[in-house]
Order: sequence, then C-alpha cells, then structure tokens
Amino acid sequence: MARGRYAPSPSGRLHLGNARTALLAWLAARAGGDAFVMRIEDLDPQRSRPEHERAILEDLRWLGLDWDEGPDVGGPHGPYRQSERFDLYAAALERLDTYPCTCTRREIREAVRAPHGATPVYPGSCRDKVGNPEREPAIRVRVPRGSRVEFTDAIAGPQAERLDEEVGDFVLRRNDDAWAYQLAVVVDDAAMGVEQVVRGADLLESTARQIWLFEALGAPVPSFAHVPLLVGADGEKLNKRHGATDLGQVRDAGVDPRRVVAALARSWGWEGSTRDCITPRELLEGFALESIEREPGRVALEALLAEPAPLDPP
Ligand code: GLU
Ligand code: ZN
Repeated sequence: MARGRYAPSPSGRLHLGNARTALLAWLAARAGGDAFVMRIEDLDPQRSRPEHERAILEDLRWLGLDWDEGPDVGGPHGPYRQSERFDLYAAALERLDTYPCTCTRREIREAVRAPHGATPVYPGSCRDKVGNPEREPAIRVRVPRGSRVEFTDAIAGPQAERLDEEVGDFVLRRNDDAWAYQLAVVVDDAAMGVEQVVRGADLLESTARQIWLFEALGAPVPSFAHVPLLVGADGEKLNKRHGATDLGQVRDAGVDPRRVVAALARSWGWEGSTRDCITPRELLEGFALESIEREPGRVALEALLAEPAPLDPP
C-alpha cells in the first residue's frame, strides 16, 4: 500500500522537470495499484494564480496522468487547495510547543555571525523573552536539544540530521500570517493519508523537519523518495538555451505526449524498448522507483522538439 500524491505550486506553467517528478510520483503509486492525490500548494497568495492551477492540471492530463482525488475531482479528504485549509494549520499549531519571534533576518544573522547568503541556524533569541511588541511576530516551534531525525530515502539513501544544531526552532507561521510550507505539507499529507512522498531532490533538506513534525503531531510518517532533477543533454541545468522547457510550450509545438513520456522515462534510465512513444500506463509494467538513476536525468530537448512524431513500430 502506498498512496501517493503530487503537490504542485500554481506559480507558473509546469516545467518538464516538474512533469518528470509528477510522472514518477504517479508511477510509484499506480505500480502498486494505489490511489493518487493531487494537491494544489497555493500558500503564497502573491505568486499563486487560478489560471496556473488550471493549466497545470490540464498539462498533466495531456501527459496521460490521472488522479482519484484533487481540486477538480473532489474526494473525501478535501479541500485539495492549501488556501482552503488554513483552519487545519491553525489547529495543528495549537498542538505544538511554539512561541512568537520578532527577530529580523538581519538580527538572526548578526546573532550567529552567519556568512551572507547562508541560512543561519536560529539561535533561539525569542525563546525565553518577550519579543519586540512593535513588530508582528512569526511563530516558531521549539526544537528540543538533541532532536535527531534519521530516515532512509528510497533514492538518496540513509539520512540523518541534528535538527537543533542544523536548523534550530523553525518558523510555522510567518510574520505576514502566511503559513509555512513545512507545516502545511505535513498537516496535509497526514490528513490525506499519504503513505509515499515522491518529489524533487531540492526538498530532501526539508524532510527531517517534516518527519519531526509528523512525529510531534502523532501522525504516521510516510516514506520518502527524492528524485534527481532533470538537466539538458549537455548536463547543464535546463534553461531557455535548450529550447522549450515548459510543458505548455512543448504541447503547443505539437509534440505527441507519448514522445514526451518516452523522453522523460529515458532520462531516468528506462530501457524498456527503443520506442519513441509510450504512455504512462504502458510504463507501469515492471516499474520500480528504486531502480531509477541516481544521477540528474538528461533529456535531449532539441531532438524532442525538432523531429516530427514517428509512427509507433508495429
Ligand atoms: N509544492 C512544492 C513544489 O511545487 C512541492 C512540495 C512537496 O512535494 O512536498 O515544489
Ligand atoms: Zn526571534
């Protein structure tokens, strides 16, 4: 049993790298015949747009993915937009040991003498004092001394973090009242019964904090798989030089979605066949998340965009 999910932020069009992660998350859930949940992570009102949400869902459907629960199909664990779940985050906050913090970034940096650019470990300045009453406080959760999280990522392998030393008390609600991703994602994954989290490698560093929060809230901890990012055929981070990197642009260029799926699957080492076209469903046979390549996946975008869709071999 491994109920899975994909949780896009509707701040723009879906990138090919996002599509690859979504496809892997879908395959990991569907390979075991399990449910797949779509959740829209629109915590940031400035960057989230309903038209982006619509485009993302449409692009994912175009690619051949489907979901059992989501903002457009409903389900028993809704609502499926984070902007509609604030009362759940507030209820979770009540159950945690938190305190208000009025430190500015600069004060924190100066207190710990962190080099510019590095994320400093919060030194706990507001733990035992009344904060500056003139400032709107952020809310931090108290991370006790010796807090250590260990887990084994299905792709990245064994991980360990001393939360108190490497992160410190972290923010659950920002001083502009926005809920922190770390809290929202845990509350939602717990409430939605997510058993397996498959997402981009950039979120590996958030995972220890999240596992710690699952435990603090008494919720079962899902398994984690952080998939490597997608790069161009030259090994460089995908950018405009490589051509169209948005799924929407690829789609507008008239590329067959099955060619996109085949190119993405090749990027994680799929050797099922020499076929140029395949559907997500066809990829399910023999799929094993653990056996995808650990290195960044390479995609020959130029080739994908340049060639007309060939006919399927007989
Ligand atoms: N909303 C996050 C993103 O789009 C993903 C969060 C997650 O999968 O935990 O990057
Ligand atoms: Zn503070």
